[in-house]
Amino acid sequence: MSQKNNKLIDKKGLRLDGRKPDELRPIKIEVGILSNADGSAYIEQGKNKILAAIYGPKEVHPKHLALPDRMILRCRYHMAPFSVQERKSPAPSRREIELSKVIREALEPAIFLEYYPRTSIDVFVEVLQADGGTRCASITAAALALADAGIPMKDLVAACAAGKVDDTIVLDLMDTEDKIGKADVPVALMPNLNAITLLQMDGILSLEEFEKAVNLALEGCRKIYAMQKEALKAKYVNVKEVEE
Ligand code: UDP
Repeated sequence: MSQKNNKLIDKKGLRLDGRKPDELRPIKIEVGILSNADGSAYIEQGKNKILAAIYGPKEVHPKHLALPDRMILRCRYHMAPFSVQERKSPAPSRREIELSKVIREALEPAIFLEYYPRTSIDVFVEVLQADGGTRCASITAAALALADAGIPMKDLVAACAAGKVDDTIVLDLMDTEDKIGKADVPVALMPNLNAITLLQMDGILSLEEFEKAVNLALEGCRKIYAMQKEALKAKYVNVKEVEE
């Protein structure tokens, strides 16, 4: 995280893309777009374009990984080689392994894992285009893909980051703000249970700034949750229209 004095907020208090500090990027969500997966969702958040696909519950291979009292959740976060300006190697990087783990841990508390002992669910996240905040957008899409697959869930999971650029706490950082800003705090929330399932921080914040960033991120999660519900409902409105 660079501490350079780059001007990321202009005199009017607006950001490089014209957003106010507490504004989300434009978000578009679609549910059920892959017919070969058990559940799927697609999200665009600013320039991010991300697909999430679910397979399962199904028998675990290799068998020794199966648990007698609950299902296992497996997650693969992957960035396409063309998803960033400098070609990304298709081989799994350390960052992708970490993100696969934190995305899995953010989703697990929302699933009734004990309903399907000795089975597994695979969550595949493919980042087609990345512009900062992909772990959060991936969680938002993967939670919807799980719901689309009909997996019994305690709640949806909505995720969003907040952070500090120049001296301002801002919501939903894009790549430039993430790279030359001062801090980034990704948060995932189960909105009805009011429980946080992901909380990370990259950079340095005072205690007051940290609290402000977390609260702003939680507000962002609640706005995204409203969009998730609309996207889920939209799928069933479409199904009804086709049937009529
Ligand atoms: N990024 C990149 N090349 C890479 C990995 C990441 O250009 O190999 C960019 C990408 O736009 C990503 C951003 O760096 O969204 C921030 O990455 P970070 O590790 O903070 O995760 P994210 O913010 O996407 O959850």
